[in-house]
Amino acid sequence: MNRSEPYLVERPDEVRRRWDRCPPAGLSRAHTPDWHLERWKLVRDLIDGWYADDRPDAEAVPDLVERLAGWLDPVQRLVTERLFAGWRAMFPPEPRLVVEPDPGAVSVFDHDRRVELRVGTTFGFIRPDGTQERVRLRTGRGSTGPDDAAVLHQGAEDDAVYLDAMVAMGVAEEIVEPPAAASRVGEVLKLAVRDRRVGVSPGLWCFGCDSAARCAQYPVVGEGRVYVSTRSVTVSKTQLGMLAVCGRRVAWDRLHQIPTDTDGETELRDGLATGLRFHEMAAAAIPGDDPSAVVAAALSEAPPSEAAELGRLWENHLRVWRLDGDPQARSVEYSAGLTLLVPGIHVDSRGRESTQPVAVTFIGVLDVTGREADGTPMVVEHRTGASGAHGHLEADLYAAAAAASIQASTRSWPQRLAVHLHHLSPEPPTCVRRVFERADLDAAVEALREAASTIAGWHPHDALSPPWTAGPWCGACHHRPLCETFR
Ligand code: SF4
Repeated sequence: MNRSEPYLVERPDEVRRRWDRCPPAGLSRAHTPDWHLERWKLVRDLIDGWYADDRPDAEAVPDLVERLAGWLDPVQRLVTERLFAGWRAMFPPEPRLVVEPDPGAVSVFDHDRRVELRVGTTFGFIRPDGTQERVRLRTGRGSTGPDDAAVLHQGAEDDAVYLDAMVAMGVAEEIVEPPAAASRVGEVLKLAVRDRRVGVSPGLWCFGCDSAARCAQYPVVGEGRVYVSTRSVTVSKTQLGMLAVCGRRVAWDRLHQIPTDTDGETELRDGLATGLRFHEMAAAAIPGDDPSAVVAAALSEAPPSEAAELGRLWENHLRVWRLDGDPQARSVEYSAGLTLLVPGIHVDSRGRESTQPVAVTFIGVLDVTGREADGTPMVVEHRTGASGAHGHLEADLYAAAAAASIQASTRSWPQRLAVHLHHLSPEPPTCVRRVFERADLDAAVEALREAASTIAGWHPHDALSPPWTAGPWCGACHHRPLCETFR
């Protein structure tokens, strides 16, 4: 062990997340503006200024907001003001209350491995009766995770109470010590130094990964290269479809990261839950040696009310598969996509604007990939609910993503590719097959490039710049209350 080696400083929850998801993520980031972090810093500075300001709130608050958050667009400013108000309601200044801005982090060290696990706290209070509190400002919906909590409790050198202040909800909660905190910390220390040079592990987490635009899983198609300084945006298949309906909704989700009341609270309707279970079951059964055994096991574990429907969907899948001439499946639930570099708005750290390449990564999850009987590469999407045609640019994304993946592994762009849409719910089930010849594949990439140009043209510092279109779809939009304020 080289004693002059610097310590590796890590956030415990992030270490665990990395190994639960994709260890190489973060090794080759592109520049993804992080409004969650930007708002957090602003709210922290506002709170700091507020405690140091003796004026009445009616005077101090608007002045602070103007000075520190006046540069924000009206939407980000309102969101930030609300978060600031959430803190003020929970922790008002009181006579003889001592406020410590930035009371420091709590750390656990492994001196042999040269690792420090560090968890920050945002404000400290010493109450008139001598009790101490250390508060973590949380501007999202999540509270402190168990690994961070374990480090707080294992590493703390005082008897302060640790709290999460979830300002969006106006709730403050004590951060309790998780079970087996010491061994949990030991595990994270080991994970922190594990070699990250392992294969990528694509999954749903790719949508929130800063490395997506530089990851070989979502290669650049066409000219250009993504650098660490290249602004990047990742867009899912669903958001791509929404682009044809309302740009603001996509921009507020992906670019401006406007918080919503329903983040992370998806309640699945019955049909949707059955569809997800079918996808899980099919993903386990299709590549296996004995699909019927996998299906039988899944049906025996499903609630009786759902088992019959799952069994029917599976039978329909087999029927369509036979109709398609028994193609060869190669992979299931495969995250594929492509990155396109297009001119877009770039804002530097001094607020100066210029036109520079922006990397837009489109990602879709391909239910099944494989080859048709004549060897044509194919992508299959399973539809288990009320069946409709593909959404806006959906088939184009599947085709272009599969072609990019084939090019990455064979170094040649395919001449032909088939996208199958399997409607499994109706009787009889049907397959809608669309063949992309070389020219169609090129056209699909161009259509995606046009969508990418629209996205890159939205101003990253102006949430009012993307156009909105109100309609019946607003009823299901999680941005509706705030959107209506700014129409
Ligand atoms: S409420 Fe309607 S107009 Fe507003 S962002 Fe949502 S979909 Fe667009």
